[in-house]
Amino acid sequence: MSEVETERGGLGKGLYIKTYGCQMNVYDSTRMADLLAPLGYRLVSAAGDADIVILNTCHIREKAAEKVYSELGRLRARQAERGRSGERMVLAVGGCVAQAEGAEILRRAPYVDIVFGPQTYHRLPEMVARALARPANGDGRGVLDTEFPAEEKFDFLPEAASPPGVAAILTVQEGCDKFCSFCVVPYTRGAEYSRPAADILAEARRLVAAGAREITVLGQNVNAYHGAAPGGGNEWGLGRLIRALAEIAGLERIRYTTSHPGDVDDALIAAHRDVPQLMPFLHLPVQSGSDRVLAAMNRRHSVNQYRRLVECFSAARSDMAFSSDFIVGHPGEEDADFAATLALVEAVGYAQAFSFKYSPRPGTPAALAQQIPDEVKTARLAALQELLWAQQRRFNEASRDRVMPVLFDRPGRHPGQLIGRSPYLQSVHVAAALLPVRIVGAGQNSIAGVLTAMEASA
Ligand code: SAM
Ligand code: SF4
Repeated sequence: MSEVETERGGLGKGLYIKTYGCQMNVYDSTRMADLLAPLGYRLVSAAGDADIVILNTCHIREKAAEKVYSELGRLRARQAERGRSGERMVLAVGGCVAQAEGAEILRRAPYVDIVFGPQTYHRLPEMVARALARPANGDGRGVLDTEFPAEEKFDFLPEAASPPGVAAILTVQEGCDKFCSFCVVPYTRGAEYSRPAADILAEARRLVAAGAREITVLGQNVNAYHGAAPGGGNEWGLGRLIRALAEIAGLERIRYTTSHPGDVDDALIAAHRDVPQLMPFLHLPVQSGSDRVLAAMNRRHSVNQYRRLVECFSAARSDMAFSSDFIVGHPGEEDADFAATLALVEAVGYAQAFSFKYSPRPGTPAALAQQIPDEVKTARLAALQELLWAQQRRFNEASRDRVMPVLFDRPGRHPGQLIGRSPYLQSVHVAAALLPVRIVGAGQNSIAGVLTAMEASA
């Protein structure tokens, strides 16, 4: 889980979006910027310069709501300062904390102008208009829109207003009906929904035309995807969708995340066998290596079923590598259960993984159960991470002397450094180099070229 600040400078009124949490929030923030662009709002890199500040929040981690309230406290000071010089700063809170807290945010922070959920952000232009009609001193109630509307937001989103970058993300599925004992997502993102395949393919073609070479297909449970097929007929699953994406000329890499083991089907495994653009890397969260804990978590699969899936993917593509999510200290987890998690990690051998201490989320079943002492969770997390980090280092060491395709998508921290991703999502740092380029186009102020090495390999 990361925290990023979305910024794309330019003229016009200033919009600042602070994005917390997962890639789906990053995607949503981009779409919020697209929605507000026609109203003249351009992304700026500092909240203090913005006419609208949006906090796009995440509810997965501990004390998420309190962190949002402290950020709001800081922004309030700047909002008041701008107010004194006659400038308005509209303060909006979106995402999963907004969905969970709702009107409580307007009660605790009455200077907030807008509170909206992940399923209503397509109405942002209208909410902003209503907020601007509200007195600037925070009197009068802010705009609240956290319902789960009957209409689907994707039908109301405009085409992207700015270039996606070479590695783009595309949401194809949202929401979750699984109700794992520990998780807030089904409550904050709502019921599972899959976008029609034709809409996804059109968006993917636009992303590629705008320069994307890699697309990561996103969903809370992306492999539960079951969207309307173009032109009718049986719904498409994720495997079928990936095959159609692979036909888009110029799209060189496809990834997808996050998958649930219970939703893996033969078509998805076969896609890994048949589609060279599909990266040989899979994030397949297992959470625990104990069947007892998996049952308590309501995960709906066993350890053996998970291990069998790993074998099937590896049989479909021999260079597959895996990543996962783990939770330690879920209510009911005993030493033997934790030992089973370590044994599973040893057996699978991960390229990388995320691991968390269980933290109770209000309103979820596991939050009501007898809790494991924090020191036990801390010790288990340390032991698990030691093992996972050793595996990650071993995986990286095994990459030495390999030649891998790397998609460079950003400058590094050091002068002259470039950073890209290997097929396995490893960050690859290189020193920028002089390379032979054949010039293939000429404009007034610049010329276009292709790397001769790429011509040779074409
Ligand atoms: N849908 C995905 C799945 O089923 O694996 C992932 C959803 S969640 C956004 C990402 C990860 O956060 C989960 O896989 C889980 O490991 C972790 N997580 C979710 N709720 C948690 C909680 N209450 N305490 C600790 N970790 C949690
Ligand atoms: Fe949360 Fe994933 Fe479980 Fe759905 S499947 S409830 S998103 S952890």
